[in-house]
Amino acid sequence: MRGKEQSVTCDSCGRSVPRSKAVAFQKAISFGTELRDPATDVRFFERRKVYYCISCGKHRGIFQKLKEQAARRNREY
Ligand SMILES: [Zn+2]
Repeated sequence: MRGKEQSVTCDSCGRSVPRSKAVAFQKAISFGTELRDPATDVRFFERRKVYYCISCGKHRGIFQKLKEQAARRNREY
């Protein structure tokens, strides 16, 4: 261990990367009961923050997704 920099684990390859070199990505996970009746159907959305290393971020198109997310956010407001 060296330095004070916090390291995070890449969600894709499991490598430990310094936070400044990692790509943060908000992953939306939804899980629910899948019932047809909307009155009883329960659905949860969980936003989990995951980190990818630069190479996995590139490989998985995270940068593109982040750009799209930013564009969507701008459209909403
Ligand atoms: Zn990785």
